[in-house]
Amino acid sequence: MLEAPKVFEYLDSITHRLPTEAVPIDSACGRIMPRQAFSRIASPPFDKAAMDGYAVRETDRRSRYHVVATVSAGDRPSGSLKEGECAAIMTGAMLPPGADKVIRREYTRREGDEVEITEPEPLGNVIKAGENCRPGDPVLGPRMLRPQDIGVLASVGIAELEVARRPHAGIISTGSELRAPGDELGPGQIYNSNGYQITAQLQSYGCTTTNHGIVTDDPERLAGVVEIALRESDLVILSGGVSMGDFDFVPAVLSRCGVEVGFHRIAFKPGKPTLFGRKGDTFVFGLAGNPVSTFVLCEVLVRRFLLQISGVGGKPPTVRAELGEEVRRKFSDRLEFRPAVLENGVVRPLSYQGSAHINALSEANCLFALDAGVERLSKGMVLDVRPI
Ligand code: AMP
Ligand code: MG
Repeated sequence: MLEAPKVFEYLDSITHRLPTEAVPIDSACGRIMPRQAFSRIASPPFDKAAMDGYAVRETDRRSRYHVVATVSAGDRPSGSLKEGECAAIMTGAMLPPGADKVIRREYTRREGDEVEITEPEPLGNVIKAGENCRPGDPVLGPRMLRPQDIGVLASVGIAELEVARRPHAGIISTGSELRAPGDELGPGQIYNSNGYQITAQLQSYGCTTTNHGIVTDDPERLAGVVEIALRESDLVILSGGVSMGDFDFVPAVLSRCGVEVGFHRIAFKPGKPTLFGRKGDTFVFGLAGNPVSTFVLCEVLVRRFLLQISGVGGKPPTVRAELGEEVRRKFSDRLEFRPAVLENGVVRPLSYQGSAHINALSEANCLFALDAGVERLSKGMVLDVRPI
């Protein structure tokens, strides 16, 4: 059984990287940008008015000015200001040469070409050229791009950028007891929920997916589907059949198909039987069939692996929260993840009966962890929880 820190270390040391592709910024949201982005320009490119009002020279202090021009956003101001002169200016417009202050309109009274200052303006109300960034400055580090990141990239003139190609994942649900939702259930049968849940998780991580459906516990049939999935995918995820039962054929079938096992059995709860392997540049996770287990392992390991091969390795985000009640456990030999509800900074564990309790996940909005060796977490202690 591989200890949890070694499992993370193993995934974080994978050097394989997905190739990158250029995408227009319009379709870059949700994609992974593996390299730092640099500004093409100074931002803003010119001294800019932050308010509607009157542009003046800071040193030319008086109670009345002569209005010699009107500058709106996008205009190029024609002349520079002389003593006693100002220019009416709109938010976002370029300051006329010589001007370095904007008196907001609310503090003025206009009469024809004259403007009277009714209240002293304490602020400059100017955004200086290059205040946000200068040409060549780093503006955004490697990450999965969110809408606000797209805004930053566009603001510095980036029209197209390199992102990691979307990984393609093939999902295989093993188990002779499984039926597809929509079919009738016979005695001893259950619906395949993992296939759909894993597919949905992987799509939310930015993968394209093929759900290869259900394969009965038959090594020949399984080998056939695994061969196809290995050929087509960057990542193959199998659910079920990795434990020690008489019909758990996944490990044997994978090695028969040429998959080299990196680890099998890990000190995680749930997820002890988890298998990870590789054939060429295609990687394989074999996850225990319990739906809570597949969910947690996808979230904790598969997601991390995908970030690693996309070139932005590192820990997925967590938030600090206070534990609302004491948590105890009998056995502390494994790293354990439990579903919980985080509300107003307080995390409350959900009643949860082991790895088959799928409904607890739908109520949960986070996972919290008990490290190996920890038997008890006391009420009021502060934890890092992972939003889900
Ligand atoms: P296994 O890992 O194959 O021993 O399966 C462990 C448990 O998870 C068993 O109760 C299975 O019936 C259940 N299970 C396996 N695969 C699925 C699936 N695709 N959807 C829902 N439950 C599953
Ligand atoms: Mg099974």
